Amino acid sequence: MQIPNIIIAVDGFSSTGKSSFAKLIAKEFGMLYLDSGALYRGVTLFAQENGMIDAAGVIDLDSLHEALEELDLRFHYTEQGSQTFIGTRNIEKEIRSMEVSNQVSPVSAVAFVRNFVDDKLHEMSIAKNVVMDGRDIGTTVFPDAELKIFMTATDQVRAQRRYDEMVAKGDSPVFEDVLKNIRERDYLDSHRETSPLTQSPDAFVLDNSEMTMQEEMAWIKGLIQGVFGIKG
Ligand code: C5P
Repeated sequence: MQIPNIIIAVDGFSSTGKSSFAKLIAKEFGMLYLDSGALYRGVTLFAQENGMIDAAGVIDLDSLHEALEELDLRFHYTEQGSQTFIGTRNIEKEIRSMEVSNQVSPVSAVAFVRNFVDDKLHEMSIAKNVVMDGRDIGTTVFPDAELKIFMTATDQVRAQRRYDEMVAKGDSPVFEDVLKNIRERDYLDSHRETSPLTQSPDAFVLDNSEMTMQEEMAWIKGLIQGVFGIKG
């Protein structure tokens, strides 16, 4: 199916499968995939490694603000999967750790961090034909995105998916810790002052608690056909 040159925003709660879904959309329709969370995770890792977050979780905002001017943070998605870089260093594995997951919501609540990431997302989307996943893509980053999806699922289902993903990567997480982290991020992401996670009124809701990937893809194809008047 040929689709127009558009931006698709995929927002929603943590671990709803936004990135897997967005990657499949990118593959199906030949679009560029961008993971905005990877950039927030990259900033968080950078702050942690450079001593800008103390043991109590307090962020040294002045140092971080100054350092972001020089931070060369990039994201590429290839056949090999998502790759996030600081300069030439691949940080993809490190940014998915629990240490980063536990700090990323406070870091991403900082307004200048959001501006930094938003600028990068705009630079990378200049030619459109992009599917991007995050929390505020359809509300703040690309409020004019031609198609907006809001994904949700029960927190138990989401925690189980995240847990399975981590085990598959060779980690040994505790299920209760994963569930707690998801609940905390839901709360922080939805209650922060700058650009909180909210459902855009013009977004189509996808609750995939009991859906397979194939069902999700059938759903999006039907939606695209309907919205853009494409014949199947
Ligand atoms: O998508 P992912 O779970 O990797 O995102 C990590 C964190 O980055 C989220 O919990 C949220 O705090 C932050 N984030 C955000 N806005 C986005 C994408 C991610 O605040 N557009």
